[in-house]
Amino acid sequence: MDTIRTIKIKNKHLQRIHNNLRQILIKAVLKRCSELQKNGQKKDRDKLWFSFIKSILKCDICYSKTSDMVYFPKWERWFCVSCAEKRGWIREPESIPQLIMTRAQVRHFLISLEDILARKTCRTDHHYA
Ligand SMILES: [Zn+2]
Repeated sequence: MDTIRTIKIKNKHLQRIHNNLRQILIKAVLKRCSELQKNGQKKDRDKLWFSFIKSILKCDICYSKTSDMVYFPKWERWFCVSCAEKRGWIREPESIPQLIMTRAQVRHFLISLEDILARKTCRTDHHYA
């Protein structure tokens, strides 16, 4: 998987369930890590902790546990959308400026394009009103 993947939950009810599930899983992981630490099982504790660090349970920068998340395969990490946007790693479609051309600009563009194409194909029989 080489593509950046964003997971957004728009339904408020599902967001609440998702966030509550995250909290339960985080508590379970932290409790188990603590137990493994006390029992001297450092290798198992480190393995679980590293899996937690790489998980979607929290943002790897701001530690948000309630945000929509983005996965970056090159780092094998999840970050919240806000942190990824602040660093310019992603751009939300609504934040991308719209390209709006006037009718005159569209006409000019099409004439220029046709002119370019005409030159490439050596056409000389076109005229514009
Ligand atoms: Zn974040």
